[in-house]
Amino acid sequence: MYLVNESETLRLYIQAKNSLHFGGGVLECPYNFDHLHFHWGTEDDKGSEHKIDGLSYPLEMHVVHGIAEYRTTLDNIVVVSYFFQIDNKTTEGLKNLLEVTEAAAQNRHVKQNVKPFPLSSLVPNSSFSYYSYKGSLTMQPYSETVTWIISNTVLSITPIDMEIFRKAARIDEELENNFRECQELNNRTVYFIQPV
Ligand SMILES: [Zn+2]
Repeated sequence: MYLVNESETLRLYIQAKNSLHFGGGVLECPYNFDHLHFHWGTEDDKGSEHKIDGLSYPLEMHVVHGIAEYRTTLDNIVVVSYFFQIDNKTTEGLKNLLEVTEAAAQNRHVKQNVKPFPLSSLVPNSSFSYYSYKGSLTMQPYSETVTWIISNTVLSITPIDMEIFRKAARIDEELENNFRECQELNNRTVYFIQPV
């Protein structure tokens, strides 16, 4: 596993070639894990790219999947999104990333090895309800080819650990407030799906 500062975000890649699958629910076929990355803000009331009932979260994690083997193609992408809120503990899996966040920020495009950990420790540990809609990439080329899955279970991060992300953005200003503003709904339907 390694963390790298590229494309105005910090991305976690996994070198192992046995792909991780994500499927079921609204998806017609299984998708393969590509990478995950983060959007965050300088204050607690901004940072996420999605808002729930008009409210932003300070940190949003995007887990990007494609149907191509090991890598995404731009024409069929599933992004699973998780919000983080400030709390008195940090979601376990995030800790290994935080150890190398500052080094990643200081060295654009340089891979920082991350102590391997189960990705499952970065996401909710039980089934969760979610929002889903067809939308676009939130970074260039903004392709309208993304199935979004937005977890309704919010993860946690301490103020001290949130500060590590913010420090990274002070080290490399490309990372500062690296979220896209909400877009018009444009007649899209947003579904809310609950596990049975
Ligand atoms: Zn993103």
